[in-house]
Amino acid sequence: MARRKKIYEGKAKILYEGPEPGTLVQYFKDDATAFNAEKRDVIEGKGVLNNRLSEFFMTGLNNIGVPTHFIKRINMREQLVRAVEIIPLEIVVRNVAAGSISKRLGIAEGTPLPRPIVEYYFKDDALGDPMVTEEHIIAFGWAGQQDLDDIVALALRVNDFLSGIMMGVGIKLVDFKIEVGRIWEGDFMRLVVADEISPDSCRLWDVNTGAHLDKDVFRRDLGDLADAYTEVARRLGVLPTNAPQSGKPTLIN
Ligand code: UDP
Repeated sequence: MARRKKIYEGKAKILYEGPEPGTLVQYFKDDATAFNAEKRDVIEGKGVLNNRLSEFFMTGLNNIGVPTHFIKRINMREQLVRAVEIIPLEIVVRNVAAGSISKRLGIAEGTPLPRPIVEYYFKDDALGDPMVTEEHIIAFGWAGQQDLDDIVALALRVNDFLSGIMMGVGIKLVDFKIEVGRIWEGDFMRLVVADEISPDSCRLWDVNTGAHLDKDVFRRDLGDLADAYTEVARRLGVLPTNAPQSGKPTLIN
């Protein structure tokens, strides 16, 4: 195959030029990072699992009318997506206190929140993704008021969808992060869910045991990350038919 042009390389994914204008190929790496990349490791099979899981969630969202950048999965590690203009924000939705909100506001982890809370962080690794308000976002022109209204609506629909799917397999959706991008169709602009939705960007707790089935397993050294992600994939019926051979049991669909 002809050598593809790399458009961007992030911590967990690489974007290549796609086969048609307006498309990109999103490649999922096995690299895991936390604490703004101060902690890093390679977790064999993570990219394969996240590619499958993100496909599963994005397809479901597309099917219920929540637009995403996802077009189709190409192979074990790659998916075809629409090229979008990424809004430089991480949009976090929380249902239960954990992580940074627990630290910042002194709320015990596991405390249910009175309603889903939407937060914004400015995507800037050098600054450590600082939390920002609507005031900053509008004043600095990262998005307008109408965009923000649409982003909140999108984020809450994603929350309802993911919470329901997860609860159906005995997993509580504690919080998650999405990114949103703009797609231009002539003069008309649409906001779509972009990047990925996977256990790298969600907090997922087993309803019965409280076990962490997300990246906190890596952040907090709680066990084997690939095992946790495999458990999520198994419960959702999203098992790689051609998982990489390793010392671990191979998952067969
Ligand atoms: N998150 C993410 N990328 C980031 C920061 C957070 O995907 O750069 C996700 C994280 O996995 C969690 C949610 O956003 O599901 C809220 O994270 P939090 O603000 O609690 O930060 P953390 O405790 O992970 O530093």
